[in-house]
Amino acid sequence: MSSFTTADNSSTEKFQHKARKRFGQNFLHDQNIIRRIITAINPQADDHIVEIGPGQGALTRHLLSSGARLDAIELDRDLAAHLQETLQQPGAGNSRFTLHQADVLKFDMAPLATTEQRMRVVGNLPYNISTPCLFHLFQYHALIKDMVFMLQLEVVERLAAQSGDDDYGRLSIMTQYYCQVEQLFTVPPGAFTPQPKVNSAIVRLTPYETLPMPAHDLKCFRNVVRTAFNQRRKTLKNSLRGLITAAQLTDLSIDVNKRPENLSLSDYVLISNTISSAT
Ligand code: SAM
Repeated sequence: MSSFTTADNSSTEKFQHKARKRFGQNFLHDQNIIRRIITAINPQADDHIVEIGPGQGALTRHLLSSGARLDAIELDRDLAAHLQETLQQPGAGNSRFTLHQADVLKFDMAPLATTEQRMRVVGNLPYNISTPCLFHLFQYHALIKDMVFMLQLEVVERLAAQSGDDDYGRLSIMTQYYCQVEQLFTVPPGAFTPQPKVNSAIVRLTPYETLPMPAHDLKCFRNVVRTAFNQRRKTLKNSLRGLITAAQLTDLSIDVNKRPENLSLSDYVLISNTISSAT
């Protein structure tokens, strides 16, 4: 059972909530870590921030106190009701805060966008859905200015991995296709209640305003990357056999005996563009 005192410290009311494992609930309690995350986000009064999984509001209160406009997306009905009550009530909360009780994986971010500024997306993400959540957000890359997330350290290392690294794979390539990746700092399990079994880390993802290596056909690109890494141990000429011939790969100056983890993002874009231009 975790508890915390409501937004305004004058309130003596305590909110009791049993962390739900199925919702990936590990609540931040370490004030030093919370401060470091807020410093990394550096929220400004004219920002439009979207927080994923506000939980008990550990980050939410600090984000709101910057004066930013904040949309928060929370799946857990009890937590959503509590946040709504404490942060949206007249006087305590404000009209800059909108809570969406929803599953982020099904949430359409587009209607939140305004013409004035791109969104900043932040959150201590539920680890059980972090990869699908990132893929979901990449769809909206053009509407997003930056993203600062807490994730499992292992996932952050995959996001930042370069070709040749052991943890380089589909997630690294698709993330680096859309974003610049900066691994910021590591967070130990003791910063959370309940404690996760693994280390966590903060990452900043900054979507490119203009994609540096655009694929002509995104569906084709995604398929090439997925197919290559489905059979990670195979050489390219075997894993991509149904999509491109060994001769075509050689024409692109790609060694057909390489394995998927030895190709760069630009190699994958090149392969995809060759396939899509031939169909
Ligand atoms: N931000 C809080 C903190 O740092 O203490 C809570 C972080 S906790 C790791 C993840 C939060 O995401 C929980 O509040 C959980 O209920 C919420 N959550 C889990 N699955 C979700 C989903 N599919 N959509 C939106 N929120 C979700």
